[in-house]
Amino acid sequence: MPELRQNLATREWVIIASERARRPNAFSASEQRLLTEEHNSYEPDCPFCVGNEELDLEVERFPANGAWQTRVVQNKYPALAKEGALTRVFNGVQRRIAGVGYHEVVIEHPRHNTTLALMTPDEVQIVLKTFQRRGIEISKDHRIEHIIYFKNHGATAGASLLHPHSQIIGLPVVPSSIRRRIDEARRYFDDTGQCVFCSMLEDELAQNERIVAMNEHFAAFVLYAALSPFHIWILPRRHSASFLQAQPDELAGLASVLRDVVRKFYFGLRDPDYNLIIRSGPVKEPGSVYFHWYVSLIPRVNRAAGFELGSGMYINPALPEASADFLRSIEI
Ligand SMILES: [Zn+2]
Ligand SMILES: [Zn+2]
Repeated sequence: MPELRQNLATREWVIIASERARRPNAFSASEQRLLTEEHNSYEPDCPFCVGNEELDLEVERFPANGAWQTRVVQNKYPALAKEGALTRVFNGVQRRIAGVGYHEVVIEHPRHNTTLALMTPDEVQIVLKTFQRRGIEISKDHRIEHIIYFKNHGATAGASLLHPHSQIIGLPVVPSSIRRRIDEARRYFDDTGQCVFCSMLEDELAQNERIVAMNEHFAAFVLYAALSPFHIWILPRRHSASFLQAQPDELAGLASVLRDVVRKFYFGLRDPDYNLIIRSGPVKEPGSVYFHWYVSLIPRVNRAAGFELGSGMYINPALPEASADFLRSIEI
């Protein structure tokens, strides 16, 4: 019998279609597809490769001198403009504000054919520190209400270049999907006096059926109401609403757990395309007692179709507990 499950933090329902369930390894990427490491380590046409740097777009590099490990550049085709006043025009039912904000690209490594799964824990930690350093800078701009950090790995996840990179967008509004999550979290807090994410984490640790990787600072688990196979959240074990407040030892803990999970994807599912999103609370509410920041990972192993677009609801053809079992069994 299929069942509907609800994620209490987002209130999203998903159909777990156990009757259509496939074996977890059926979601592996095709054998014909090249793994990231099988591509060239340098591409003369790649703007992110060493020697091809577009210096006019550069925001920062780390370290500041000598060979770089990470670079941040402005997006060549930014979705938002950095300069300009935050003007608002409300004209009847037409509402608009100036498209000011930040759109930056984090080049995660000098090498063209690597990815988080193949980097050392220290290298992953340097990437996370770069996100945080830029986030802190961007959050000082009073026009910015919300910052999204995301990574598209592979073409079906939206990446146009193989070279490992992520993006940071600073927005002049709080997006409605974030607003809804915050409202739901506040409602749960009003009802129970607890953070819904802390409650979920406590349950996951107690049940230990869907945990994939963990250490003293972070836990990664396949969601009880996973929207797709291997849909994972990585939560800090200490309550905190803001990624920008993570301490250095916590970032090291996240680097280790995140790397373990993406290595399990890489070796267990043949380097699948995936999206990674860091969901932090609004920059102006860093001390929220009911919102809890986290990392979401969504491998693109299952294509969304008309039903998903029409209902906003997903059908997951994999049992979350079986997905977690499979990932746990992958030797990294
Ligand atoms: Zn490159
Ligand atoms: Zn919490």
